[in-house]
Amino acid sequence: MNGKIGRPEWAVNIERALVHLTENEKECDDITNEKYREYARASMAIARKKYQNEMATYQRALDEGYVVVDRIVNLPFEESCGLRLSKFFAALREEARILALRCPNCRRVIFPPRPVCGFCRISVGERDEDWQILNDTGTVISVILATEREVDRPTARIIGRPNPCAFIRLDGGDPWTVLVHHLELVDPEVLKAGLRVKAVWKPREERRGRMSDIEYFRIIEP
Ligand SMILES: [Zn+2]
Repeated sequence: MNGKIGRPEWAVNIERALVHLTENEKECDDITNEKYREYARASMAIARKKYQNEMATYQRALDEGYVVVDRIVNLPFEESCGLRLSKFFAALREEARILALRCPNCRRVIFPPRPVCGFCRISVGERDEDWQILNDTGTVISVILATEREVDRPTARIIGRPNPCAFIRLDGGDPWTVLVHHLELVDPEVLKAGLRVKAVWKPREERRGRMSDIEYFRIIEP
């Protein structure tokens, strides 16, 4: 191997990710609910296997005489989300409110707010009366228990949480006004369609105008 070629950044980061996994495995012990602790550990084991395999592939390539190059492509960019979504995200941040549009023609709720009604093909959202506030309560229509967590490759940090996710039909909308968000860490046995839930908002100083301004949804009625 050419001594001048260092280890590629992605390989260094995978090794760092494996170190972070070890730290996160220790944090798993702090999860009080036994089932979530098992899920979290299983998720770590899957990630560990995945990254160990990548390192083994890297080592095999080196052993066979290949030159392995750094191929992390970093493309930072900023993008305007447009007037409707800007208003929507600003309301999350400033007022802890979930806004939607209602088409003046067919009266369907458009959520998240988009500039055109997909049914009527007309522009929506220019008039104040097109806007409405949805409640931050709703009904769970299905639940996802995701156990695998991702590693953010450029930083080697583990992202995501072991919380269950739910499709939530928000009050004040149409039957298809559905938001996907985290639920609180409750016993998975109690998770089912039909649960009534309410948003738990981050405090104002932590809100950034993103869906994650809602920390999670708490069950208010079984
Ligand atoms: Zn319409």
